[in-house]
Amino acid sequence: MRKETQRINRGTKGLEEELRLVHMLSKRRERVRIKRVDHIGIVVKNIYEALSLYDKLFEFVRLVRIDILHEQGVKVAIIPIGEIEVELLEPIDPETGLAKFLEKRGEGLHHIAFEVDDANEGLKSLGEKGAKLIDRESWQGLRGRTGFIHPASTKGVLIELIQRA
Ligand code: ZN
Repeated sequence: MRKETQRINRGTKGLEEELRLVHMLSKRRERVRIKRVDHIGIVVKNIYEALSLYDKLFEFVRLVRIDILHEQGVKVAIIPIGEIEVELLEPIDPETGLAKFLEKRGEGLHHIAFEVDDANEGLKSLGEKGAKLIDRESWQGLRGRTGFIHPASTKGVLIELIQRA
């Protein structure tokens, strides 16, 4: 009985410390204001094959838009799902980072994009906080200004900051 009480007390103390930490973090000045998850990027070998599979499974593909970005060496299909989008990416140039990612790790989750008010400001702020940046400056993507943060500094997930045009 006594042992049980001690365990509960220790648990409560741990929770208090966690809440203090959450409170401390939330009081910080926001310089990279993340508005929402904008989209999730998935790398595939063949975009049409992937679309047909996803349509069979989830029946959401009729809303799709496909673009070929020659400069970036990628074919992109955008599938809106509620508030966010799924972005299917098929490399068309074997020299791109995306093609190498596919070759090394296979098909699957490639990146998560956060919407921000100012992509350049966001990248600068993250760089100052020690994040390894792939892009020091944002560039013009399909939907607006965009820039990437290296997965080595974000627990293994490639993060994109996007500023909608
Ligand atoms: Zn993206």
